[in-house]
Order: sequence, then C-alpha cells, then structure tokens
Amino acid sequence: MKLIHLGFADDLLLFCKGEPQTIQLLFDKFQNFSEASRLVANLSKSSMYCGGLSSEKEQELIDLLGFSKGRAQLIKSVLFSIQVFWAQVFILPKKVIKTIEATCRTFLWTGGTELSKRALLAWDRVCSPRVAGGLNILDMATWNKAAISKLLWNICTKKDKLWVKWIHSYYRNRDLLRDVPKQASWIIQKILKATKYFAQAGYSMDDISNIPSFSTKQFYAPLRGQFQKMSWRKLVCNNGGLPRWIFILRLAALGRLQTRDRLFKWGITTDQICPVCDREPESLNHLFFVCDVSAEIWQKLLNWIGIRKVPTHWTEELGWAELNAKGRNPQAKVYRMMLTAAVYYV
Ligand SMILES: [Zn+2]
Repeated sequence: MKLIHLGFADDLLLFCKGEPQTIQLLFDKFQNFSEASRLVANLSKSSMYCGGLSSEKEQELIDLLGFSKGRAQLIKSVLFSIQVFWAQVFILPKKVIKTIEATCRTFLWTGGTELSKRALLAWDRVCSPRVAGGLNILDMATWNKAAISKLLWNICTKKDKLWVKWIHSYYRNRDLLRDVPKQASWIIQKILKATKYFAQAGYSMDDISNIPSFSTKQFYAPLRGQFQKMSWRKLVCNNGGLPRWIFILRLAALGRLQTRDRLFKWGITTDQICPVCDREPESLNHLFFVCDVSAEIWQKLLNWIGIRKVPTHWTEELGWAELNAKGRNPQAKVYRMMLTAAVYYV
C-alpha cells in the first residue's frame, strides 16, 4: 500500500517528501491538471503541513508555493487551543506541556492569563488525587504517555485503522517493538518506544497484544504511581460544603494558608499580630481555634450541633475530626460542612 493521496468529498490531501524538487514537481503537475480540466484549487484555502522539518526548511517550502506564513502560524495556534485532543494523537514535546501547565496554573491562582510564579501549592500537588490532598487535575505529561500507549496498543492488536494498516504493510516482517526502525519518523519511533510505559504499568512486550481493551483513563492511574493518602482525606472528599470552602479547608489542612506568621517569614509583611484579637501572632493554630473570637464562634457552633468539646488548636482539631467526623451519620456530615465553612469565613 503506497499512500500518496487521500480524498474526502471535495478536499484533497497530497503527500510527498519535504524537498523543494519534489514539491515543485507535484505543484507543476497540479497546475497542468488545472489547465487541462479548468478546475483550479483555491490557494487561499490551501495549506501545507510539514513534519520533521526545521523551521528554515519549512519557510523555504512555504515561500516556494506562495502560501503565507501567517497561515502556518494560525495552524500552530489552533493546535495549541485544542491540545487536549492532540495529546491523544501525538506525543507533545515537553516544552509545550510546560507552557500549557504554566497557563493553567496561572489561571488557577490568579484568574488571569498573565504568567506568574505565585502559587500556594506545587502543580504536582494540584494534579494529585483528592485523597492525597490534590485537585485531581489531569497531569498532561502522564496523560499524554497513557494516550501514546493506546496508539501502541492499536498497532500491537492490529486494529482496523488506516494508519495501523499502513505501518504494518510498510514495515512488513519486522519485530517493531524490539527493533525500532531508525529511519522511521519521530512520532512512529516514540509510539513504538511506548513499550517502556507498559513496562512501568507491569506489562511485558508480549502482554500488550493480549490486553483485550484499552482505556487511557485506567492506564493513567498506574503511570501516575502511588500517592500517600492524607489522614484527613475523608474530611475533604465527602464534604457537602461549597467547592471554594473545601478549597480553603484543603489549604488549611496542608498548612498552606497565607496566615500572617508565614507572610512574615517570607518578608511580605512586618505585622504578625492577629487582626481579630490584636494580641497573639496570627498562625493556623491561633486562628483555628485558639484566638478568643474564633474560639467563641466555634464553641457556639459545636454546642449547636450537640458536640461536647472545648475548641483547641488546629492540629488537634483536625486530629479529632479525622477520628470522629468521618462517617456518614448526619452529625458528622454537618460537622464537616461546619468546619469547612468556619475555616472559610474566619
Ligand atoms: Zn486572634
């Protein structure tokens, strides 16, 4: 099977080597065809896609055919915005993944798009599962690995897809997994080398073709590895409170709230004193619930739902909650929401 063109309704895709002579020849023949048939291709609607070429080479070819550079850049920006889709098809270069993550991270912490370094949690933590104190946002790099593994699985199980057939007929009589063709394109090589991700997930090369079905999502989990579960996970995972309350509770449990003692340590503020009672330094333990004012509020709330206990400091309060308020009974449920709201509003 030699693939030189594909036609979809009135669209035509032509493939050729990325060298000026070949492209010129192809283009000339195309012009001949136009003269003979009076069917002319609309240049402004035509595009060129290059793979594995340097940007100078690419520019040379663009100049040759008279396609505008603007179009090539437009394609790139469109690719960027639909990267979640592309991550399933192609291997994304590390730099692209980093940029995407930086944009998402900035949006999470500042709500804007201007890149900044300000973050209360490391991105790694944000991407970890909720039981490990994270937000369960997809880790792009790992998701991409899982998606590439699916492509390899497609090859190994000889799925009925055009590109899979192409690979099998092009590299006939070859053990592709153990002998990756050196002249193959970067993408093909990357896909064939995805055996290492299968190894990480505990599959040998021979196992791959025996996996009956492949779910990128299920494959993502073992690639991400094990996470240490947080002792307070039940407080945030099964919580009826508003998401923004829970977000703050999670930060408090991780000790990442920007209380004045931390800001002072970083040199951001010179005033450590709690603005509520004006007596002691403001810290997590002081604010929850040693401070006179917050202790009084918390005591009233505890009395209200019938828990007989005196407010203590945060570490102990959290420890108490882990033991006594993790279940499904109504009191535990209300306690969790109450704690979350109290931390948010104080
Ligand atoms: Zn205070």
